[in-house]
Amino acid sequence: MKIAVFSAKSYDKEYLTRANQQGHELTFFEARLSVETAPLIKGHAACCVFVHDRVTRDALEIFAKENCTLLALRCAGFNNVDIEAAQEFGIHVVRVPAYSPHGVAEFAVSLIMGLNRKVHRAHHRVRELNFSLEGLTGFDLFGKTVGVIGTGKIGFCFAQIMLGFGCKVICYDLHPNKEVEAIGAKYVPLESLFAESDIISLHCPLTPSSRYFINQSTLNRMKNGVMLINTSRGELIKTQDVIQSLKDGKVGYLGIDVYEEEEGIFFEDMSSSIVKDDVLSRLLTFPNVLITSHQAFFTDEALMNIAKTTMDNITEFDENGSCENEVSSTVN
Ligand code: NAD
Repeated sequence: MKIAVFSAKSYDKEYLTRANQQGHELTFFEARLSVETAPLIKGHAACCVFVHDRVTRDALEIFAKENCTLLALRCAGFNNVDIEAAQEFGIHVVRVPAYSPHGVAEFAVSLIMGLNRKVHRAHHRVRELNFSLEGLTGFDLFGKTVGVIGTGKIGFCFAQIMLGFGCKVICYDLHPNKEVEAIGAKYVPLESLFAESDIISLHCPLTPSSRYFINQSTLNRMKNGVMLINTSRGELIKTQDVIQSLKDGKVGYLGIDVYEEEEGIFFEDMSSSIVKDDVLSRLLTFPNVLITSHQAFFTDEALMNIAKTTMDNITEFDENGSCENEVSSTVN
């Protein structure tokens, strides 16, 4: 099959090429997919995209005109795709439902550890020959209460790790999972999770109902000085509200691997540019905020799994006209 691969970085080329045992014809485009770049799919039966590609109705209309009937996502979340429009135009959407839940969960833990023990600040100090410990006090994780919102594949791994630290793990999910309780975590109503957690980590998808899940109202119900971790999707948090809560001390620590306006910024080298996003600039001024550029997934294992599942999805669809990992508008 001829496949147009968008947002192709060096690592995408490397891993997809290695995983392409089936001999599909891959064309790599560094550009992100948008209505402006969608005409590049001409002559390709499939298109392969990642989290920042904008698969809007207008873009999908171009797919339909060019007989591109398969959209292969190199990720699990599909909030950037107009699924209803894809169905309407007869374009099949396939995804990688799991690639390394451990990698993402472990990264969420690294944000907690980095923020708590101020590793990022200590590193900079020591490089400047400042060996003072002033202001670097952390806290023991042992005995602390950790709230997990969304206990799917990643949330489950995360809960398991936090239990290993000796934390009390309380969870909230629209669809509770018995295995989570079997390992020693406990489901509680959302209000109790907000009220009792010292650390809250988000592991639910971005959907119309979860957008701005964390806002001034929910922040007000949390413990003073709470640590908030988001490795899921930026729009789960209303950033302006969290900035206010950082200013008044309600939020004591913020660790985010995702940001609501990350598209066009994260994954790119902006070190010689002027940052035009004043909200991000403000966030970067807080000593108790740790921001990474959507890298929680970025392990060798995950990249290989993503590439392999993507190629398998395409082959399965090519051979059978259907695929087990097809997304429908009913998946949450
Ligand atoms: P999953 O589908 O296995 O689990 C998601 C869980 O969230 C499910 O149990 C679901 O019932 C629950 N849920 C859905 N809506 C909810 C809501 N409103 N409130 C509470 N719970 C809700 O997904 P996963 O593989 O664990 O991934 C979770 C999210 O992590 C993905 O949606 C994606 O956005 C994000 N992610 C980020 C990275 C990264 O690199 N930062 C990598 C992979 C995934």
